[in-house]
Amino acid sequence: MIDATNIAIVGAGLVGRLLAVELSKHSINVTLYEKDNLANLKDQHASAAAFTAAGMIAPISETIDSDIDTYHLGATSIKLWPSIIEHLKNQHLQQVEFQTNGSLIIAHPQDQAELDFFKLNTERLTRRCNAQFQAVDDSQIHSLEPDLSSTFKQGLFLPDEAQIDNRQLMSSLLLACKAQNVSIIDNTPVQIRNNCVVSKDTQHAFDLVFDCRGFGAKQQLTNLRGVRGEVLRVSCDEFTLSRPVRLMHPRYQLYLAPKPNKHFVIGATQIESEDQSAVSVQSMMELCSALYSISPAFAEARILEQNTNLRPALANNKPCIQVCDKHISINGLFRHGYLIAPAIIHSVMSWLNGKECQHFNHLFTFTEQSHA
Ligand SMILES: Cc1cc2nc3c(=O)[nH]c(=O)nc-3n(C[C@H](O)[C@H](O)[C@H](O)COP(=O)(O)OP(=O)(O)OC[C@H]3O[C@@H](n4cnc5c(N)ncnc54)[C@H](O)[C@@H]3O)c2cc1C
Repeated sequence: MIDATNIAIVGAGLVGRLLAVELSKHSINVTLYEKDNLANLKDQHASAAAFTAAGMIAPISETIDSDIDTYHLGATSIKLWPSIIEHLKNQHLQQVEFQTNGSLIIAHPQDQAELDFFKLNTERLTRRCNAQFQAVDDSQIHSLEPDLSSTFKQGLFLPDEAQIDNRQLMSSLLLACKAQNVSIIDNTPVQIRNNCVVSKDTQHAFDLVFDCRGFGAKQQLTNLRGVRGEVLRVSCDEFTLSRPVRLMHPRYQLYLAPKPNKHFVIGATQIESEDQSAVSVQSMMELCSALYSISPAFAEARILEQNTNLRPALANNKPCIQVCDKHISINGLFRHGYLIAPAIIHSVMSWLNGKECQHFNHLFTFTEQSHA
């Protein structure tokens, strides 16, 4: 039983919206604060990294750069997403596309070593857990994705990976918050002092305050850093893709994610910098040449958006739920927000209900001292 009736959530990004929807299913007054203007802002101008993201849910592929905990959080989240989406659908809200066609990993012949390394890691992972993969040759690649360039001769098919239309989800979550009577206070940057939310003119006390500000919590979370990522959103009528494709590349693992209306997101660079300025010429060239190498059809694609944002990262790029009296910070989801957020929110709800969440206890830290 949750021992709080008046809860504030600061930050209406991915974590804040998911948590607001979960908490407001109970008899709790939930107030959601957001610094952006939620009514008029175009998705690409929103501060939340959640809008810049591609929405890939790739527990196996992402474990190459992280650890087994990420895999378990991701594998749990993949099972939780359908019920979250079902809940949104049951309220007769917008459609949220959740695609479970797996993902395809490919490399140009000159980057074969990167693919071999990826395969070695995947084999190692499958020995430790129940992850599935299948090595595929050129004919299998082209039967999965007929529009891919014929230069791809070898790859891996990961049947248990997924992707979500993140912008549909974000908009649907906000509608659900409204339908479930969450009080939304937008256009209002705030600070948090234990159980108080402080804005320019006011201060309000709550039973609990959840800090879901992502990189916006930098001033209070001194070990938080931003990791720059750049993506392009293009439209291309001549190309069809049934699942995300990850292209091995010596500098980044680039991916191409299909979105509704023949839109595609290609990304993302990963640069240790908190510079949020526009996409650099070098990144633009790398992303566009990756697109063209996936299929020459992209020569005639139109660039709809070029976006930059910061992934909120803590030590070892691991997420953390820090409980300090009545201030609970959920942060550090790094490049894995869509991959792991449902499992994190599930753990928070279990903890609030006084239950053990055996697998994910390591996510929590408890401190006496106030962050303020
Ligand atoms: C280029 C890029 C690509 C990505 N691709 C993927 C992907 O394919 N798959 C995946 O799983 N993850 C991906 N991610 C990661 C994912 O976007 C993040 O992990 C996730 O968005 C983090 O969620 P969050 O709620 O903590 O932060 P955010 O989504 O950034 O939300 C934070 C919110 O807090 C608000 N806020 C900040 N300060 C204040 C304040 N003082 N007062 C009030 N409100 C405030 C912000 O305006 C924002 O709305 C990607 C990230 C980037 C940058």
